[in-house]
Amino acid sequence: MDQNITGVWDNRSHHGLKMALSWLSWPFLLTACIGITAYGFSIDRPYLFFNSAYLFLIVSLLLLERFMPHEQKWRSPDGQILADIGHTLTSKGTTQAILYVNTLIGVNMVTNDQALISGLQIWPSEWPLYAQVVLAVVASEFMLYWAHRTAHEVPFIWRFHAVHHSVQKLWIVNTGRFHFIDSLYSIVLGIFPLLLLGAPMVVITWVGAITAFIGMLTHCNVEMRFGPISYIFNTPGVHRWHHSKKLREGNTNYGENIMIWDILFRTYFNEKRRPPQNIGITEHMPRRFRHQLIWPFIDQKRKSAIEEADKAAS
Ligand SMILES: [Zn+2]
Repeated sequence: MDQNITGVWDNRSHHGLKMALSWLSWPFLLTACIGITAYGFSIDRPYLFFNSAYLFLIVSLLLLERFMPHEQKWRSPDGQILADIGHTLTSKGTTQAILYVNTLIGVNMVTNDQALISGLQIWPSEWPLYAQVVLAVVASEFMLYWAHRTAHEVPFIWRFHAVHHSVQKLWIVNTGRFHFIDSLYSIVLGIFPLLLLGAPMVVITWVGAITAFIGMLTHCNVEMRFGPISYIFNTPGVHRWHHSKKLREGNTNYGENIMIWDILFRTYFNEKRRPPQNIGITEHMPRRFRHQLIWPFIDQKRKSAIEEADKAAS
């Protein structure tokens, strides 16, 4: 029996449908989103169709979270919705601004088939597009892996990443909860190998779209099964372990999109039991968005004052 199911669907209503959806929803949603985006590219409207696919994914996951939640307890409010949305907007805004400024200062030449910068000029542009995208996902993942791993293992970088791990439940609303410095750090490192190798803009855009789809799926509170898919992709199944309070379980599964580098560097973790329901970090994280933003920069005295104020307010 699959332990993931135990205790989740006790009332047995729609059991067969839920079982089918638990196997099909992850691969179906990812394939559908990629298909919609590919159609957008084919008619030269990639951004409209990417955004439509993203909206379709969000609505589908919200419905599935209600219909077949992975953890009932995670459906209770955690008082962090505004902070989650605040971090999502500031981190997305920062990365958009960086790309925009890049364009303005002419570092890149943005036509769809040109390299963003000249790079080493060794990118295999003659390969079929899908093969180039696969190569780009693997290459950028190498740096995303190390960005994420150092964010856990280097205390100074952890200060920023702790904002993401301070959540006590996983659901789609806190998928994008990253301190904007944390986002900037991983985006810059993740795009670096593609620029260095001279990947075309269309390939970089595809990597961005796939990262957005897989990222939205990883936090969803939907009871899903993955089987061997979790050896290839960063599924909610492996990502839930990454949010464990136990370091042996949490300092694993650093992959953003795919798990190849976790497997090669021996940080892959996916035991055949249910991932922890009680997640988060052991240190304090303030409740308010603005305090979370300044938290990595302030001294202990200031932190203690905010912590005291939080206690008094709760
Ligand atoms: Zn992490």
